[in-house]
Amino acid sequence: MAPARTRVNSLNVAVIGAGAAGLVAARELRRENHTVVVFERDSKVGGLWVYTPNSEPDPLSLDPNRTIVHSSVYDSLRTNLPRECMGYRDFPFVPRPEDDESRDSRRYPSHREVLAYLEDFAREFKLVEMVRFKTEVVLVEPEDKKWRVQSKNSDGISKDEIFDAVVVCNGHYTEPRVAHVPGIDSWPGKQIHSHNYRVPDQFKDQVVVVIGNFASGADISRDITGVAKEVHIASRSNPSKTYSKLPGSNNLWLHSMIESVHEDGTIVFQNGKVVQADTIVHCTGYKYHFPFLNTNGYITVEDNCVGPLYEHVFPPALAPGLSFIGLPWMTLQFFMFELQSKWVAAALSGRVTLPSEEKMMEDVTAYYAKREAFGQPKRYTHRLGGGQVDYLNWIAEQIGAPPGEQWRYQEINGGYYRLATQSDTFRDKWDDDHLIVEAYEDFLRQKL
Ligand code: FAD
Repeated sequence: MAPARTRVNSLNVAVIGAGAAGLVAARELRRENHTVVVFERDSKVGGLWVYTPNSEPDPLSLDPNRTIVHSSVYDSLRTNLPRECMGYRDFPFVPRPEDDESRDSRRYPSHREVLAYLEDFAREFKLVEMVRFKTEVVLVEPEDKKWRVQSKNSDGISKDEIFDAVVVCNGHYTEPRVAHVPGIDSWPGKQIHSHNYRVPDQFKDQVVVVIGNFASGADISRDITGVAKEVHIASRSNPSKTYSKLPGSNNLWLHSMIESVHEDGTIVFQNGKVVQADTIVHCTGYKYHFPFLNTNGYITVEDNCVGPLYEHVFPPALAPGLSFIGLPWMTLQFFMFELQSKWVAAALSGRVTLPSEEKMMEDVTAYYAKREAFGQPKRYTHRLGGGQVDYLNWIAEQIGAPPGEQWRYQEINGGYYRLATQSDTFRDKWDDDHLIVEAYEDFLRQKL
């Protein structure tokens, strides 16, 4: 662990976003005696989990001037992680005695329950008083070793303020990435990105091709099969000969990736099958996007790699005044937000010292070199997956916190395995009850 400094600074800090990351960042910053303003362009806390039946007018969200709808949550969404491992460490996401009947006590609850949990969290730690709702940050830039933050509220009133530090928590599931498909410009059918998917009704009696078969792709294709004539999933992780009907379904097929699409409406898969389709649903992920950030070109987003960032959080030349919470994916999100936030709060107060700029840059360069040596594309820079245990435990060590609990890591690994191997049933059938028992024993110990 980095040596602790004796002087502790109390700073004015701006947090951008009141989702799961921004809320816990605000709590940790205040615990560390910083003064915090959270800017939130919505009228509620919860970020992604604030479901709206509305979607963007441009179904692929390609128009940079479109009206943004932040949430990508669809009506039927249930969590893709077991709730015990999904919550913050010191505010477990488990049913509470005071919950009323409107609450969803299932192990993989609906998105409404996650929002209710985040609202509980905000209430418990009196976080709402720090939030400026309906206020969008439009510019963040360095100025004389501090940070200029320009914001605009829903009445169109702009404000220009100076903060000692800015913590970026704007989420990264709002700017869609669309698959490149040969011939797509002259393909006559409809296209939509999962960001704009809410309910299946519009697909009634259609032939639908869904690109992508991870969390959203798997869910949405199943959602659509109830009303569509046929659903075909194209997945680049499937071998090129793949062609199978999904067990238990009479209108859902799994294919390899699309080879090309044509003016007559046909779609040709790498397995040689040809389908005449009405709609393509792109479940192909999202791009990091910081339209408000001006660092004179220091921070870039290239092929979905945000850099340079020391341990996915601090840009070496601008640290600790600028930081990012929540960039890594394929990991325990809320738990990571909590650890990263504690690290940022302690680095700002001076309780934890970051390495020199040069040392942080060396670390970033070494990380990129390792990624390349493993043949991983740049867009996987922030994908943790198997590396999450080392990463999360390393941050815990920086702040003097205990490492992640074994049951937590085992639950997420088992959860991902079930998601990949039993995507229809993983939320209701499992074989790790012993981990649930361990988790609840831990929660009980915390209370004593
Ligand atoms: P968000 O929740 O997106 O919050 C960002 C906030 O910033 C928003 O409130 C937004 O309005 C605000 N904001 C953005 N820009 C500005 C601006 N310029 N000015 C002011 N405010 C701004 N994770 C799990 O752990 N379990 C799951 O089951 C799970 N399911 C998921 C399902 C889907 C479909 C998706 C897309 C993601 C899922 N995730 C899941 C990941 C999820 O995104 C994270 O768990 C987490 O909620 C993200 O929190 P966040 O605070 O980083 O971002």
